[in-house]
Amino acid sequence: MTPAAHARRLDAADPLADRRDHFVLPNDTIYLDGNSLGPLTHAAQAAVADTVAEEWGRGLIGSWNDAGWVTLPGRVGAAIAPLIGAAPDDVVCCDSTSVNLYKVLAVALSIREGRGRLVAERDNFPTDLYIAEQAAARAPGACRVAWLTPDESIADTLDEDVAVVLLTHIDYRTGEMHDMADITAAAHAVGAVVVWDLAHSAGAVPLALRDAEVDFAVGCGYKYLNGGPGAPAFIYAHPRHRHQIAQPLAGWFGHAEPFAFEPAFRPRADIAAFLTGTPPIIAMRALEAALGLWQGIDMQQLREKSIALCHLFIETVEANTDDEALTLASPRDAAHRGSQVSFRHPEAYAVMQALIDAGVIGDMRAPDIMRFGFAPLYTRYTDVVAAAERLVSILARRTYDDPRYRAQAAVT
Ligand SMILES: *Cc1c(COP(=O)(O)O)cnc(C)c1O
Repeated sequence: MTPAAHARRLDAADPLADRRDHFVLPNDTIYLDGNSLGPLTHAAQAAVADTVAEEWGRGLIGSWNDAGWVTLPGRVGAAIAPLIGAAPDDVVCCDSTSVNLYKVLAVALSIREGRGRLVAERDNFPTDLYIAEQAAARAPGACRVAWLTPDESIADTLDEDVAVVLLTHIDYRTGEMHDMADITAAAHAVGAVVVWDLAHSAGAVPLALRDAEVDFAVGCGYKYLNGGPGAPAFIYAHPRHRHQIAQPLAGWFGHAEPFAFEPAFRPRADIAAFLTGTPPIIAMRALEAALGLWQGIDMQQLREKSIALCHLFIETVEANTDDEALTLASPRDAAHRGSQVSFRHPEAYAVMQALIDAGVIGDMRAPDIMRFGFAPLYTRYTDVVAAAERLVSILARRTYDDPRYRAQAAVT
């Protein structure tokens, strides 16, 4: 059987195959960048149109009550909760991942005031680095960031001086996945508070935040959750910390009674204490609608398909290329990998441009990583094989040597 015929059989037997029809995807494009920006769903398109025309257009200010705008952050949080192994009132939707990370780190650091170190990964996504530095610099007492390099073990750096451990569960470059339960338990053993960034995890892999006793987490609405560009993000907090959400950007939406217009701040007693100001309703409606697609999805089944897609891509590429400059950057063992496969190549930028020109959209992270996200809700096995074959052909023919593939755009 040819790889394409094998892939057609896998698609025919795929229990998640019907989800793809809910997405607006161009016919001539294989989209493997949902780890960076999830595609549009028909549901989000309709919800935004309706929110604008009906709720805003006709309902005007009355929609805060009549269309449930005022409870939207909590409702969207509750819809995210089952995807991350949390209870509905553990999660709230608000702001961006960056802003939420700052709020959560400030709370986490205040809980362990007096300890001297915030442990974080040096090769994390840059916003996490900047935010960690700022949160530590502004924390009560003298706290500094202790940077972990990729070859240092987290367990070895843990001691009773560690206030907070901040980790991104799945690495944005390589797709390498940490063991959330083990690391959380090890950090708790020395009394540290753990904050997980779920940017590349929520909607990509099954998560069990409550079972792992995770303290706090933040995550992204526009990657695997398909909420749209700049979609609002989310915050999770374990109930044991709910009474101490003294967050640094306490605004009127986090007040116990916002419409009492009191001069002094009194925090809400629930997760919505993390809210700051008026939520972006249109954007949040888009995310809410996209989250509807997850109803009835078995996360274990999703994981099995994700592993199978990633495996098929690696296998088809490696079996057919003789370009020795191409090396796998992701863990080979699926147990340590998220829903993404990365390859290194010295000409990564030009190869990716040539691939995009050939209808396969992935992306590139400097200096030499090509990333391919495999979102199981809409990616077909036939897409994976076609993408792998086009990559192999571009490498074999050195199509990427064409100067037009070397011009750099602002967003890679
Ligand atoms: C995508 C991503 C973010 C995004 O943060 P924004 O505030 O939405 O720009 C943050 N952290 C990590 C690890 C990411 O991968």
